[in-house]
Amino acid sequence: MINLLDLEPAALDAFFAERGEKPFRARQVSRWVHQRFVDDVGAMTDIARPLRERLAAEAGIRGPRVLRDTTASDGTRKWLLDAGKGNAVEAVYIPEDDRGTLCISSQAGCALDCAFCSTGKQGFNRNLETGEIVGQLWHANRTLLMDGIRAPWVEAGRAPITNVVMMGMGEPLANFDHVVPALRLFLDDNAYGLSRRRVTLSTSGLVPWIDRLRDECPVALAVSLHAPTDALRDGLVPINRRHPLAELMAACRRYLDKAPRDFITFEYVMLDGVNDQPTHAHELVRLVRDVPCKINLIPFNPFPGSEFGTSPRERIRAFARTLQDAGIVATIRKTRGEDIDAACGQLAGQVQDRVKRRLAARIPLAVAR
Ligand code: SAH
Ligand code: SF4
Repeated sequence: MINLLDLEPAALDAFFAERGEKPFRARQVSRWVHQRFVDDVGAMTDIARPLRERLAAEAGIRGPRVLRDTTASDGTRKWLLDAGKGNAVEAVYIPEDDRGTLCISSQAGCALDCAFCSTGKQGFNRNLETGEIVGQLWHANRTLLMDGIRAPWVEAGRAPITNVVMMGMGEPLANFDHVVPALRLFLDDNAYGLSRRRVTLSTSGLVPWIDRLRDECPVALAVSLHAPTDALRDGLVPINRRHPLAELMAACRRYLDKAPRDFITFEYVMLDGVNDQPTHAHELVRLVRDVPCKINLIPFNPFPGSEFGTSPRERIRAFARTLQDAGIVATIRKTRGEDIDAACGQLAGQVQDRVKRRLAARIPLAVAR
């Protein structure tokens, strides 16, 4: 049984073409699935009954199974979603006055093993399918609408989620073949219709895949930097040993040719006494000198068993001031959903059958074209 959530726009077109149907059928069905969030082909009332019946025999709409649904005191809402075989991933809704953001997962677990990340600590289980990635957005929109969410853009007929960030569990570029079709649906006018600027992919720095994203689907890019020198970054973000900072900075510059925004966002998690000293700020200024960027300082979110501490507020402010004095736009990220462990890097889900982490075995080495 085909899950319609798995089909990117070109695949849905092909599905109908193969069955001798006109291309507008694909657009009609796409709007039912991704704009009206139906979960039943039978509900597609402007499609003639015989076609609906044929379609229902072959395809369905299978959204995620919700294992837990928690709302924090600040309105942040986290869904724990079944990923099969005892695994689960998380999607987090972050309401703001002028937008609704959904933080989406791309893998159950993560192989990259960054020292300060709860997902990384669990190891890797598997890549999510396209339908499981898209299903997170489909589910959030559908649920928020059913719950009667109130927001000016919803009253004007738009979907509750206006912005997507691929910043949940997993390294999205390590699951390129399922993530890019999902991004195409996020952007497609007959699906979610988000602009490229409102879809952000965050990566720890898989350089060859940054180039491929630039060629195939350049959405807004965030890069998890976390350290200004290779010596420090090697220990915090192990992928740096394969793609060191000079290579990463060059890839960021190349990305800017096609990026929907004229800057890269650098994420920098503030770890007490590790990467938050004045010298680090000065080194960071030098590192990013040739890359138009904004730097987002993330207060470290502790999780059970984490060996790091959160930098004191005043030190984070001083770090931001050093960057700002050098002419760099630097902001301190507000932590949301703390009381339900929904903040950056706290997403844990559950990962069973954990596969022994070995960077070399897990990360695609070269880009297959
Ligand atoms: N794998 C991708 C995207 C998911 S992580 C990446 O690493 O970019 C999203 C962001 O949260 C990354 O910048 C990540 O480094 C950061 N992060 C991870 N653990 C964190 C923690 N405990 N506290 C704060 N930020 C964290
Ligand atoms: Fe994976 Fe990102 Fe966590 Fe690193 S920070 S372990 S790349 S999810």
